[in-house]
Amino acid sequence: VTQPDLTVFESLESEVRSYCRAWPTVFDRAQGSHMYDEEGRAYLDFFAGAGSLNYGHNNPVLKRALLDYLERDGVTHGLDMSTTAKRAFLETFHRLVLQPRHLPYKVMFPGPTGTNAVESALKLARKVKGREAIVSFTNAFHGMSLGSLAVTGNAFKRAGAGIPLVHGTPMPFDNYFDGKVPDFLWFERLLEDQGSGLNKPAAVIVETVQGEGGINVARPEWLRALADLCERQDMLLIVDDIQMGCGRTGAFFSFEEAGITPDIVTVSKSISGYGLPMSLCLFKGELDVWEPGEHNGTFRGNNPAFVTATAALETYWSEGDALEKQTLARGLQIDQALAQITAENRPHVKEYRGRGLVWGLEFHDKERAGRVARRAFDHGLLIETSGPEGEVVKLLPALTITPDELDEGLRVLDRAVRET
Ligand code: PLP
Repeated sequence: VTQPDLTVFESLESEVRSYCRAWPTVFDRAQGSHMYDEEGRAYLDFFAGAGSLNYGHNNPVLKRALLDYLERDGVTHGLDMSTTAKRAFLETFHRLVLQPRHLPYKVMFPGPTGTNAVESALKLARKVKGREAIVSFTNAFHGMSLGSLAVTGNAFKRAGAGIPLVHGTPMPFDNYFDGKVPDFLWFERLLEDQGSGLNKPAAVIVETVQGEGGINVARPEWLRALADLCERQDMLLIVDDIQMGCGRTGAFFSFEEAGITPDIVTVSKSISGYGLPMSLCLFKGELDVWEPGEHNGTFRGNNPAFVTATAALETYWSEGDALEKQTLARGLQIDQALAQITAENRPHVKEYRGRGLVWGLEFHDKERAGRVARRAFDHGLLIETSGPEGEVVKLLPALTITPDELDEGLRVLDRAVRET
């Protein structure tokens, strides 16, 4: 592979030094599950815009809807006005997502990013309960603002704030007593112990599968026990479905399998379906305590994103639950391939885990995981690392990936692991 000259980016964009060099090329076009660099070289995409492209790049149905909207000079700004595009999205979201699942949520548009959604959820929970602490989990990732970092369990990212981040109460994730019983007893004892110094938290925030934290999957019974704990202790349950929502785990919301109804849900990434910035904060009606203007922002209502999001929801259910079944079937394909890669590459590979179309292959050392991702790139596969130290190679393809494309990518991954 010829190395492109990235010096222009290095001088113009300081970030490139710390992050983008993992894929040393200049990307130009993208379609479906492929990206193309400026030399025309194709790459199979197991990254999907960090989970923001569940429908693939430039999905033709979503693109048509967007082009039609732009061609008729639809409203393009992001303010809070009532618009036909926003109304169509809300109507479709209620009809296809909330009503069939009997979910009692009000919908708020907290801003363009996932971080905005998390920040609004934390603010709302604190205002409702009049308490400041929030329980969060080891290796959680919820965003990069001060509030969302305070509940993020990654010391490196927290250090970026340059100041101590308080008001988060960390707890072990998917923690079991004796390997059998979800273990929250110690926490309840601390809460009841007047001398423990632990202030009662307003809420608990959790990912059902920790994406950035290394594809750590919470078991459904643990999530149910967590929901019960919140109920007993009068804490709100916030599920951050920013990465695992919109079908990633084989259901529209990742908490559906556990049969729980969180008080607040954050959604972003693939909700617009086209990589356009958009986020939602869903909350139970009784939590509707904000006066108009208590949480606003210029880009809260991205109208072109409402258009693609509406088309995305219609696409998701265009053939009943076919996309969900397909996601689970493709997941099985990955499961089988990773089982073989793991068995054949011990002791370097530690284990693999995942759900739906999000999987992680964990290595004993982070350098090897990084080399595997780099080797995969050399062979035309885009794949990222995650986990506390980047020791997990993360598979996050579009839900629309074909079995052949998936097979091809898994073969490249297998080769990259063997060559590293
Ligand atoms: N929450 C989760 C679970 C995420 O995975 C992410 C991003 O990866 C965020 C929040 C932050 O979203 P954004 O990067 O759009 O601010």
